[in-house]
Amino acid sequence: MSGQPVQAVRGMNDVLAEDMPYWRFLEDTARELFSAYGYQEVRVPMVEHTELFKRSIGELTDIVEKEMYTFDDRGGESLTLRPEITAVLVRAAISNGLLHNQKHRIWTWGPAFRYERPQKGRYRQFHQIDCEAIGYEGPDVDAEMILLSARLWRALGIGRVALQINSLGTPESRRDYRALLVGYLESRRAELDEDSLRRLGGNPLRILDSKNPALRAVIDEAPQITEHLDPASRDHFDRLRAHLDACRVPYVVNPRLVRGLDYYTRTVFEWTTDALGAQDAVCSGGRYDGLIAQLGGQPTPAIGWALGMERVTELLRETGVAVPGVTPRVYVVLSGERAEHAGLALAEGWRDELAGVRVAVHLGGGSFKSQLKRADKSGAELAVIIGDDEAARGTAAIKPLRSERQQEECAWPAVPARVRAMLS
Ligand code: ATP
Ligand code: MG
Repeated sequence: MSGQPVQAVRGMNDVLAEDMPYWRFLEDTARELFSAYGYQEVRVPMVEHTELFKRSIGELTDIVEKEMYTFDDRGGESLTLRPEITAVLVRAAISNGLLHNQKHRIWTWGPAFRYERPQKGRYRQFHQIDCEAIGYEGPDVDAEMILLSARLWRALGIGRVALQINSLGTPESRRDYRALLVGYLESRRAELDEDSLRRLGGNPLRILDSKNPALRAVIDEAPQITEHLDPASRDHFDRLRAHLDACRVPYVVNPRLVRGLDYYTRTVFEWTTDALGAQDAVCSGGRYDGLIAQLGGQPTPAIGWALGMERVTELLRETGVAVPGVTPRVYVVLSGERAEHAGLALAEGWRDELAGVRVAVHLGGGSFKSQLKRADKSGAELAVIIGDDEAARGTAAIKPLRSERQQEECAWPAVPARVRAMLS
């Protein structure tokens, strides 16, 4: 019995064949770059103890307050689908004993889950590329992290991105700044919105991150965190800027750049684009020197960034970047019983010899004409045609589909060499 068609879960997307080349291009380019910089790939679980995210991201953040997919497993343990990956990589470093006077530069990619309001560029299952440098105090590694991301945009052919940086200082200097900020915000209480009033008590820095245009003036006139850094954080920030200047990476210091997670210290940064509308952050990161100790690990400085893969693939599409295709280059047409019988084995042999050339075989028969139509639609450059006559002679006709060139007939064993010559 059939019923209503089954539905996808809201905010969770299928990546279909036509989108896949963009994803592949991003994944392959990132993988190559990480390996060029000496970052090692790791894989970590999608599900963790709920406590991990409460203790790392912070109880008073949007993510923990209202966006996590949390459930009890059959043993009654509270588990959560990871809303981000940094905390998971840190947990992995701690639970695998990787922190004792060691340094690690690692990366991974995969899905993350947040119960947000789905809209363009904002989904409930989304994907991140995530890298972390654990055990490095910086600011050299802070600069390297940013350089790596800058090179990734170049390698992808993405131009419409801009870098903002800021420093959040240490927990101590931030406490002082926070008191100052709360005093200021109290003085302008009448202008705050409901969200900000709620944050004022628990997490006032997040008010600076508000996307409500009505708060623009209050936020613009607020005391700036960069003016209230402790001397060591100031020096760290100045040296990061000197590295970026020396490497000619353009950036803007945005004193209002605070990140949505509590664990950041000192350096934070974000790449934004003007090509995607409201969801403009494509890659964000920062230093989290206190997090590892906070999660019970050996105190270890670290920094990392995460890139939103949906937004970056959309950016590739939106800005018309040409990505490597996956269309077949050769389409084998098999017309008649003898051809169909010989075709699969022949194509297997040709694939062996044509290693690297994509060869699609027509399956399921059909008229010669309809098969040739399919060949054309597939995007292939050449059709290799075997009909009854060719099968009887042990030959194939090689027909260029994208030019006026004549088709050629050749014996089966000679097909790979002819195909290669006609492709190039
Ligand atoms: P935003 O300000 O857009 O909500 P965020 O500060 O919550 O982003 P991070 O937690 O730093 O984002 O995650 C890193 C990157 O992951 C973001 O820069 C963005 O590109 C992407 N990202 C975050 N949330 C989503 C989502 N719900 N859907 C798609 N991409 C997302
Ligand atoms: Mg967010």
